[in-house]
Amino acid sequence: MKVIGEYKAKRIIQGRVPKGEDLFKWLTEKVKELNIKAGMVSGIGAVTKATIGYYDQIKREYVIKSFNQPMEVLSLKGNISVKDGVPFAHLHVVLGKEDFTAIGGHLFEGSEVFAFEFEIVEFEGKVLQRGFDEQTGLYLWQEG
Ligand code: ZN
Repeated sequence: MKVIGEYKAKRIIQGRVPKGEDLFKWLTEKVKELNIKAGMVSGIGAVTKATIGYYDQIKREYVIKSFNQPMEVLSLKGNISVKDGVPFAHLHVVLGKEDFTAIGGHLFEGSEVFAFEFEIVEFEGKVLQRGFDEQTGLYLWQEG
């Protein structure tokens, strides 16, 4: 295990994302507005549509797919760090469909909120930076 940071919880923000908002855009803006440089996000709710991605490890690019149907957000989980000098939220979701099967992936812009409740935990400690990682083609947490 590679430990990159050790923190104390500084504050916990709880709230709702308004109906009709874009889930990814709204949470990303909120994290910037609150100026959170290290932390975590979690939430549950429902969306009327969603856009999620799967990272193709060979091609090193996201396969992005939109699902135009009402779904439960069974779990949204993410972390907050700093990328290119601004707070950045990395968010994943597990979505439940009408037939009770689940799909999931990396959350992108293009997911419309029906109802959503979240918690954002801000960490107290060093600022966690993201940088390009040659081995994966992803922007990952940097040591030091
Ligand atoms: Zn991801």
